[in-house]
Amino acid sequence: MAQALTFDPVRLPHEAEALRAEVRAFVADTLPDDLLRSSDFGSGHDPEFSRALGSRGWIGMTWPQQYGGGGRSFFERYVVTEELLAAGAPVEAHWIADRQSGPVLLRYGTEEQRAFFLPRIVRGECFFSIGMSEPDSGSDLASVRTSAQRVQGGWVVNGTKLWTSGAHRNHYMITLIRTEPQGDNRHAGLSQFIIDLKGSEGLTVRPIANMAGDEDFNEVVFEDCFVPDEHLLGSAGNGWEQVTSELGYERSGPERFLSSFRLLVELVRAVGDAPEPEQAAAIGRLAGHLVTLRKMSISVAGMLQSNHNPVVEAALVKELGNNFEKELPEVIRLIAPERSGRLFRRTLEDTLLHAPSFSLRGGTREILRGMIARGLGLR
Ligand SMILES: Cc1cc2nc3c(=O)[nH]c(=O)nc-3n(C[C@H](O)[C@H](O)[C@H](O)COP(=O)(O)OP(=O)(O)OC[C@H]3O[C@@H](n4cnc5c(N)ncnc54)[C@H](O)[C@@H]3O)c2cc1C
Repeated sequence: MAQALTFDPVRLPHEAEALRAEVRAFVADTLPDDLLRSSDFGSGHDPEFSRALGSRGWIGMTWPQQYGGGGRSFFERYVVTEELLAAGAPVEAHWIADRQSGPVLLRYGTEEQRAFFLPRIVRGECFFSIGMSEPDSGSDLASVRTSAQRVQGGWVVNGTKLWTSGAHRNHYMITLIRTEPQGDNRHAGLSQFIIDLKGSEGLTVRPIANMAGDEDFNEVVFEDCFVPDEHLLGSAGNGWEQVTSELGYERSGPERFLSSFRLLVELVRAVGDAPEPEQAAAIGRLAGHLVTLRKMSISVAGMLQSNHNPVVEAALVKELGNNFEKELPEVIRLIAPERSGRLFRRTLEDTLLHAPSFSLRGGTREILRGMIARGLGLR
């Protein structure tokens, strides 16, 4: 029987809107005007900028104050993240830690783990990667083969993680590993570990160049890599529940539809106040889609604020949002002004080269559509 997905309309509260001008002023003061900017959360690694955000209380905003967090609402966090992305600020370094590693540590970590990691993340000093995908295991995450054997005082890990964004720069990685042989229940026997990317023996991190020539993601190889008991996250065997609980955070935010946004900004600047009719029509249509996606995404922020775990709603926002951010450079390429400045051209080139990955990272289109269909009771 088909079920409805409900996106209740949510208006950002006054205290959240009040932050908008503050973030805009900070970005205007901090970043040079002629910078080639990207709204892609995955490009722009700048630890100094992350520390500056941390000192303003803009990392770990929703976390409890006892761990250095801001104790603020998901709506306030929403405004800060959307303003940073819209401005094309370099947020990559702290993004994963702020978005999902911190919340997972808060939910499943021991008191020692929380007290150690969270204040460092909040200060913009400690960055995390996600170690889910493997060479033969991306969409079918339960089939991961990286394994850990119990030894005195910890675990010995062997296997390979792939496409691990930022692992060559970040400090830690939360990793999904098989700790018991696979049986009838494929979701049993998996566990999450915190891997020290800087100080572990038997760990090799090899950057992989993407289509744009950047080295952002990696292959991470474990060869008899010892991981101490203190770095088991949550309970052994509970990894599947834990990893899926991250997905509401991973998939719902404004980063899932804003990745190409700077190109729209540069187009509006390039056409000025005399756009050709097809340019005006395209800008209007793209802006209309953007407004709708934003409403849906803010509605999901409202669900997170009410302690729900909106995995299916987040999948829907990501699927529609990824379509939008992939379509945007294609539409703009066809109506680009013949004479345009260097910044517009470079932003177009950069966005075209990165856009194919938007609907792969964080779960592919087919996988998300399958989840949405299941959520609607259609399969
Ligand atoms: C820029 C970028 C950054 C990334 N960063 C990270 C990261 O930091 N950490 C991490 O763990 N991973 C990361 N990934 C990996 C990403 O999550 C995977 O690429 C993705 O989950 C798909 O897995 P795969 O590449 O193994 O493809 P496959 O799972 O082999 O899929 C190949 C194709 O088959 C389709 N397909 C697979 N199964 C089904 C099915 N059941 N029904 C219908 N179609 C199906 C898929 O949709 C896809 O089109 C990143 C990827 C990119 C592009």
